[in-house]
Amino acid sequence: MGVRVRIPVPLQKLTGNQTEVECEGKDIRDLIENLDKKYPGIKERLCEENGSLRRFINFFVNEQDIRFLQGDKTELKDGDEVSIIPAIAGGIDFSEEQIERYSRQIILPEVGGAGQKKILEARVLIIGCGGLGSPCAYYLASAGVGHIGLVDSDRVELNNLQRQILHFTSDVGKLKVESAKEKLNSLNPDVEITTYPLRITSENIMDIIKDYDIIVDGSDNFPTRYLVNDACVIAGKPFSHAGILKFEGQAITIVPHEGPCYRCLFPEPPPPGMVPSCQEAGILGAVAGILGMVQATEVLKYILGKGELLNGKLLIFNALDMSFRRVNIQRNANCQICGDNPTIRELIDYEEFCQLRSAGK
Ligand SMILES: [Zn+2]
Repeated sequence: MGVRVRIPVPLQKLTGNQTEVECEGKDIRDLIENLDKKYPGIKERLCEENGSLRRFINFFVNEQDIRFLQGDKTELKDGDEVSIIPAIAGGIDFSEEQIERYSRQIILPEVGGAGQKKILEARVLIIGCGGLGSPCAYYLASAGVGHIGLVDSDRVELNNLQRQILHFTSDVGKLKVESAKEKLNSLNPDVEITTYPLRITSENIMDIIKDYDIIVDGSDNFPTRYLVNDACVIAGKPFSHAGILKFEGQAITIVPHEGPCYRCLFPEPPPPGMVPSCQEAGILGAVAGILGMVQATEVLKYILGKGELLNGKLLIFNALDMSFRRVNIQRNANCQICGDNPTIRELIDYEEFCQLRSAGK
């Protein structure tokens, strides 16, 4: 048994396309010598002529950057895992700053250089910069999502700050999209942000979502929920849905026609007044945070094409007993929007739709 070495794409020619090899070595320097015996030419790709490590290549031992250990004298033991991360991976040139900034996720085999490139090229629209949208946007920006669109017509209020973590006390009165953009840009200048300080409607939604790969629904009312669902199903855009109330949350990821949509789950909205809003019933800020982060995680998994999405599965979280449950949701063949014979073929008036249901009861 020796050390497991993860080989980056540019060096896989030398290892016969192996992405991972076993090798021996008492430290990094010794490991490189032994790698070169097995795979001639690898040393000159990793080291300068004077033997020092090339500065555009980073080594991690068990996820620790060797620059913060003992450099090329970092000792190795059986079972250690060494990742070699060059500045050029998956066909993209990363700057040194990007390599450093994203190093902890680039070393994940599910991300790697190719995955980081996908993240940097991704376009995500977040509807609502509140309790769900704030934490979600924060983690997407920190991961390096290249383009984030923010939709919200509201201004920051003092009572928002308990959960809407992108907004600070000094932002009260400011447009939420502006406040959010400032924080996200200051967190990660790689991210390009487009703001939409407007209320999303049947008239404007199709034109906005067309520019994005995936949508995050962080809205706080039923008309917008159904509007986002129907628009995304019509446009064939995947979206992440989450809802929160008091100590509970729900999340589901909708990939139109590959699983159920929000209408398959709830064909009709509850009558107004039946389900209280967070404004009426309250919400623990941390619960909003957990669900917003579930949404961010789903978006990153979708971008990377890794793991299993909450597609056809409703996640139900209860903070009081700290339980996460998942229930299976089927696509409804009679669904009005994604069923076999859809009756909704264009967007309707969703305020009226949600009101009408109540009048009919
Ligand atoms: Zn449906």
